[in-house]
Amino acid sequence: MSDVPAVPVGFAELDPPADPRATWELPGLGQLPVTLALEPLVTRVLAPNPSGMTLDGTNTYLVGEPGSGQAVLVDPGPDDPAHLDRVTSALAERDARCVAIMVTHHHWDHAEAALPWSDHFGVRVAAADPDVAGPSGRVLQPGEDLSLAGTSIGVVPTAGHCWDHLAFRIESGAVLVGDHVLGRGTSVVTHPEGDVVAYLESLRRVYDLGPSALYPGHGPELTQDPLAVLDFYRAHRDFREQQILMLLDEVAQPVSALVEVIYAAVPRTLWPAAEQSTRAALAKLERQGRVHVAADGVRLVG
Ligand SMILES: [Zn+2]
Repeated sequence: MSDVPAVPVGFAELDPPADPRATWELPGLGQLPVTLALEPLVTRVLAPNPSGMTLDGTNTYLVGEPGSGQAVLVDPGPDDPAHLDRVTSALAERDARCVAIMVTHHHWDHAEAALPWSDHFGVRVAAADPDVAGPSGRVLQPGEDLSLAGTSIGVVPTAGHCWDHLAFRIESGAVLVGDHVLGRGTSVVTHPEGDVVAYLESLRRVYDLGPSALYPGHGPELTQDPLAVLDFYRAHRDFREQQILMLLDEVAQPVSALVEVIYAAVPRTLWPAAEQSTRAALAKLERQGRVHVAADGVRLVG
């Protein structure tokens, strides 16, 4: 006897939005170069921490005006000596010294090295989360512009993936988006930490900046049509919401059953993350008065 929940007629016909990146020539998973100059202002250094959640590994970015002799380190990533070696070499290649460390959000794959490396380089950490910034750090405020390393860096609030998430807009018009947008696939909005409503507002905020490129926390740089990717991300959330509402249309279901059907094609190891995303989507629908989430299952309201 199978305990797979019944799938309503028409569910399989729901059309997922097309990912514009499918037709782009992006490097495959595991094919990102360790160090790459993306533009005069930015060098990307890949951390050696690949996984299901971190894709190729965490992207650490060096940002600075060429010739300034300085660079800001964005998202130092794991506190790993091999990664520090890579970053140190990339700094030398840019003929720059590290003048500050900035962090997009507190998740460990981005923030772990922030305080140890701030000691190592003798610089301060800037982040929205005071615990990440540390006692001598700088707590960043939404909308501020920092003058660092001969250039200016705009602080763009992008809550949603988690409460303290920031993106950084640089002078070329590119935006360093952390885990708000990923180079491959879609981002996880965690629950209860994340917030789908805030996430969608943040997508709109980045869209309105008209970014020339998106440099994500994981995966390749998105330069071809950043706005199309942002459109796809919004459509993807809408699609998931549609799927949930359709599954609940006939019968109340536990969250695990929703995940089992919606993420049937995704490896089971990613189901815990999928459940987080589903719970985050349900929290939005519950706030809108459309579903009721109880311990024994989720049902439509009305
Ligand atoms: Zn991450």
